[in-house]
Amino acid sequence: MSFKILLIEDDPVILRFLNLAIKTEGYETSTANNGVFGVNMFINSSPDLILLDLGLPDIDGMDVIKEIRKSANTPIIVISARETEQDKVQALDSGANDFITKPFNIGEVLARVRVWLREKPNSENESTFELLDLFVDFEKRIITVAGKEVHFTPIEYKLLELLIQHKGKVLTHNFIQNKIWGYSTVDDYQSLRVFMASIRRKIETEDKSCQYILTEVGVGYRFRDS
Ligand code: CA
Repeated sequence: MSFKILLIEDDPVILRFLNLAIKTEGYETSTANNGVFGVNMFINSSPDLILLDLGLPDIDGMDVIKEIRKSANTPIIVISARETEQDKVQALDSGANDFITKPFNIGEVLARVRVWLREKPNSENESTFELLDLFVDFEKRIITVAGKEVHFTPIEYKLLELLIQHKGKVLTHNFIQNKIWGYSTVDDYQSLRVFMASIRRKIETEDKSCQYILTEVGVGYRFRDS
């Protein structure tokens, strides 16, 4: 059984291109060229993932997100020409899971689709994580870099764990603050930045050959997926 992907996009050229590329990967697709039709298609076709344009002719893509989020947590990847930090934060905070800016690279779109589909079933916490030099044992709470154990404070550990649990995905500043501290300080992310910088010093190399945490400027952070 293959995954079903719903494409909501009003530009016929982009829609055709995306549809073809995604079908070629072996996924089933359904398409909608406006927001209302998109929401209906969502209800009728119960897709596993949604690729959503924001600038639609009838209702705004942001409203499509809110409508879908009333009943489902199906992954939504926004593909939009809107590129300001505020647009991204707003889409992610409204319930979108990821954001790709137009003009997009189809390889990147397919990679993100794989990330989101892969994590759907049994993504329950694995007990260890390994990437390049970094090794984390979640049961024993041990972190090693190139075989050497590194000391993390409790907050740093929680942050690293959160990032790894959502690897490959953008986490907004607000999302992270809510998860770690239980509340968010709108527009004041200074202490979060300090913690992130400290974690980076502990696990990353200065020459960037081992870079795990990627900054999405003005939006948040993304942990490298591979
Ligand atoms: Ca559009």
